[in-house]
Amino acid sequence: MDKERKLIIAGNWKTNKTVAEALDLVTALRRELADVKAVDVVVCPPFTALESVSKAILDSNIRLGAQNMSENGYGAFTGEIAAGMLKEFSVGYVILGHSERRQYQKETDALVAKKAAAAHAANLIPIVCVGETLMEREAAITEEVVETQLRGSLAGLTSDQVEKTVLAYEPVWAIGTGKTASSAQAQEVHAFIRKVLSSMHGDTTARRVRIQYGGSVKANNARELMGQPDVDGALVGGASLELRGFTDIVKNSI
Ligand code: PEP
Repeated sequence: MDKERKLIIAGNWKTNKTVAEALDLVTALRRELADVKAVDVVVCPPFTALESVSKAILDSNIRLGAQNMSENGYGAFTGEIAAGMLKEFSVGYVILGHSERRQYQKETDALVAKKAAAAHAANLIPIVCVGETLMEREAAITEEVVETQLRGSLAGLTSDQVEKTVLAYEPVWAIGTGKTASSAQAQEVHAFIRKVLSSMHGDTTARRVRIQYGGSVKANNARELMGQPDVDGALVGGASLELRGFTDIVKNSI
């Protein structure tokens, strides 16, 4: 597939996998995806498995991501994980503002923006998630919601930082529900996101930002979604927990 932007497919393992299970999965992924060069493949295990997974993917084409981080550095922030701690395990990416964190931890756009700035300051690439709920889609306010999240979550970043940021459009109604946005629905919002990025930072920056789609991506819908002009990869939850589910998504996207 010939795209200006390299595809990036990330597996978000959420609160799943013991260290032993994580090692099993990533060792098999490393073997199965060894030849994949056309896609950036990222796995995002829970914090507890970062060290083991980091060692298991040394000198491979698989990159490591975390699922969250603190907006603060080292210090008196009980229970938090600072960017510097992630760097110790060669983490390169960090998912920020996932809808589950927005819902359960009440993360706001302003907080996500602080975390994104802290991630960039530590040379971590944030994967910033945005997306509307079912109620918002049915009320025909998807664009307003996504634009507000986008402007708020990227507030204060320079154009250079925005260009390096990965965005994930994840309609909340499609996460873990088995309901996928149609490829046309996904393309429509991705194109809109690029339009907002262009108005914020100009055409060149907007053209360079990679925008993943997330929401019940599976092997059987990956090719069509990835074939959309503004869809530059996937953020995969459920299907990334199993070897075949994830490897087939990656292979079907190329
Ligand atoms: C996610 O949580 O980011 C996600 C897209 O989950 P799922 O693939 O299970 O819908």
